[in-house]
Amino acid sequence: MKKCEWCGNEFDVEEAEDIFEDETFMLSYQSVKKCLCGNCAVEAIKDAVDGVYFETCEKCGKEFDLFEDEMEFANQFDWFNGMVLRDYWKEQILCADCALEEVYKDLE
Ligand SMILES: [Zn+2]
Ligand SMILES: [Zn+2]
Repeated sequence: MKKCEWCGNEFDVEEAEDIFEDETFMLSYQSVKKCLCGNCAVEAIKDAVDGVYFETCEKCGKEFDLFEDEMEFANQFDWFNGMVLRDYWKEQILCADCALEEVYKDLE
């Protein structure tokens, strides 16, 4: 059993994984870098808390904070609401820089 950093409850990692992967889209509990129970990890994603969820870009290999990069990505598209970094994860997980490259490639 592990102890959740946020709520202090003890939890089973496998159970946390199940809860997390049921509730989040395309995300993996393995990428939650804090020791959080399933419910707190889901909350962190829903609230887009920085410093919790890190992915590795499959293109450039950079490890990035998902919500920082999602913000950075969304900020580029004031003119087009609803652009979401995760929409660009069709074939691989991409950081904001690499996703932007893809976007501009599409525009050309
Ligand atoms: Zn918790
Ligand atoms: Zn990248």
